[in-house]
Amino acid sequence: MDDEKAICRICGFKPSERPGGEKGSEPTYGICKCCGAEPGHGDSSPEAIKSSREKWIREGMAWRSKTEPQPENWDPEWQLLNIPGEYSDFIRKNGIYLQPKLGVAEWAFGRGNALKYLDILRAKKIPCLGGDVIAEGKDGAFGYTHDNWHHEKGTGDSQEKYANDSIAKAIKYIKNYQEKTGGEYYYVMVAGLRPSEMLLSGR
Ligand SMILES: [Zn+2]
Repeated sequence: MDDEKAICRICGFKPSERPGGEKGSEPTYGICKCCGAEPGHGDSSPEAIKSSREKWIREGMAWRSKTEPQPENWDPEWQLLNIPGEYSDFIRKNGIYLQPKLGVAEWAFGRGNALKYLDILRAKKIPCLGGDVIAEGKDGAFGYTHDNWHHEKGTGDSQEKYANDSIAKAIKYIKNYQEKTGGEYYYVMVAGLRPSEMLLSGR
């Protein structure tokens, strides 16, 4: 994480991503441009921060500043991954954000990290609904291979069985794909919960 002090603890917005402060790189401690949180209000304790954050999420994760326009391609789900946690830390560290490469607000992992990511989902009992395979061209550009998989919940399956079966299928797919093709690929997976939903459910 670049500069944790600069990140809004409520919505994860990073003011340092734009010029701010006297010396340009200094964090600004004013009202958060994104969620409108004011220092000293709603951030006095971890509980207060959590409750302010849940309120912002439930109200639709809106960009609140009237004076500063919403950044281009702004993605509140990706922004919420700035909030420290096992899941968010893993994605921030190992995931490749596809907005700049493919124009989609998703993230991809190389094979090894894709398998580790599935372990995290399994531990949290979150299913993997499916995924897409992405290839990197010689020029470094990313493109869909149009190979993909998906898993549907069986009738009467418990959430745990759903999570376990879907993750087993994802692991099998990724391992087979690698064996079959022999190349290095990236995998975009659809988790059963978005980062915002994960924060709301306490995972
Ligand atoms: Zn904020």
